[in-house]
Amino acid sequence: AESGAPRTVTVLGSTGSIGTNTLDLIGRNPGRYQVEALTANSNVETLAAQARAFNARLAVVADPAHYGALKEALAGTDTEVAAGPQALKDAAARPAEWVMAAIVGAAGLEPTLEAVNRGATIALANKECLVCAGELFMTAVSDKGATFLPVDSEHNAIFQVFDFEQRSRVDRIILTASGGPFRTWTREQMVAVTPEQAVAHPNWSMGAKISVDSATMMNKGLEFIEAHHIFAMPVDRIDILVHPQSVIHSMVSYVDGSVLAQLGTPDMRTPIAFTLGWPRRMEAPTARLDLGTIGTLQFEAPDETRFPALRLVREALKAGGAAPTILNAANEVAVAAFLARRIAFLDIAALVERSLERVPHAAPTSLEDVLAIDRDARAVCADLIQAAAA
Ligand code: NAD
Ligand code: MG
Repeated sequence: AESGAPRTVTVLGSTGSIGTNTLDLIGRNPGRYQVEALTANSNVETLAAQARAFNARLAVVADPAHYGALKEALAGTDTEVAAGPQALKDAAARPAEWVMAAIVGAAGLEPTLEAVNRGATIALANKECLVCAGELFMTAVSDKGATFLPVDSEHNAIFQVFDFEQRSRVDRIILTASGGPFRTWTREQMVAVTPEQAVAHPNWSMGAKISVDSATMMNKGLEFIEAHHIFAMPVDRIDILVHPQSVIHSMVSYVDGSVLAQLGTPDMRTPIAFTLGWPRRMEAPTARLDLGTIGTLQFEAPDETRFPALRLVREALKAGGAAPTILNAANEVAVAAFLARRIAFLDIAALVERSLERVPHAAPTSLEDVLAIDRDARAVCADLIQAAAA
């Protein structure tokens, strides 16, 4: 509401890059939002500071080892404190009208589904939810009457120019990709890539996992699957186009030859503001786009040879069933191992490929199936890493 009672909001993953950008926007609009719950994995210091600053009703730390520290840090405040996986789900189940799903990885699936199941407005940043359980997730959204708003900049762009009333008149979705920090590198050059090099994204400042995904271009692969589920588009009508400036955030082409795009400076507060203000646009303190200064926009085709993650995603979608769930889980394990300097950069995609070969592909039909496949794939990928190290 423009005036009157504040809108109640919950931020799952409030201490991360998306979470802090979300709270930045909320903080610029005093009185407009009441924070119900904030959650983090283990970053007690930031979580407690946020809970104090926003007078949150509840703060939850997913890792129970940090319960005591959180309790102590919030002593003397009105904020309730809880810890553990069930507390995380309970936080999402509390009656906030709007929920930002910004946990990284499949760890966000169950809490986000809690918010979906009570019909909340879901601003979804956590793309891994849709990669590992896309059909189940989107079915829950429609069955439970939840409102789904994509935060990922590409999907937010498409959402803004997608004519849902004339979906049969949509010809193609064109997902733009920055190409990441190694866009122009050869495979030979990528052999010795360090975590520091991989997380240094040319255009966007993001969490470590998505930054590595951008470097392997697995991020664009995950987004390809994400777009397929959000917009119910067949995969042969979704294209990937490398666009190094990240000014055009994505495009939709129609049967009459019109191509509609959303543009802006690369700042996640624009798509977050779109979802936070929904259905009205709200002010975001982002740099305005100045095309005259930018001068030139470049485009090139993606290269599946140098970036095999793109091929793996295409194959996983074709295989269907459990393949996207396996791909996501193996990628999470491999990226964590790379960040811990246990494997090399090029091993990430290789491990995903080998995990896809080893885990059975029976299609999941329930959340329990998805979680079991996710667990199996993590174990297989971890074994492959262990075996290689031995
Ligand atoms: P981040 O690493 O900065 O933050 C992740 C948040 O999730 C933190 O609050 C962390 O405490 C919490 N978390 C991590 N593991 C958890 C677990 N096991 N259980 C519960 N909570 C856990 O990540 P980010 O960059 O903010 O990205 C969040 C999500 O948004 C990812 O799915 C990412 O792909 C997506 N996304 C991010 C951006 C971006 O610009 N950062 C853009 C598009 C999409
Ligand atoms: Mg994106």
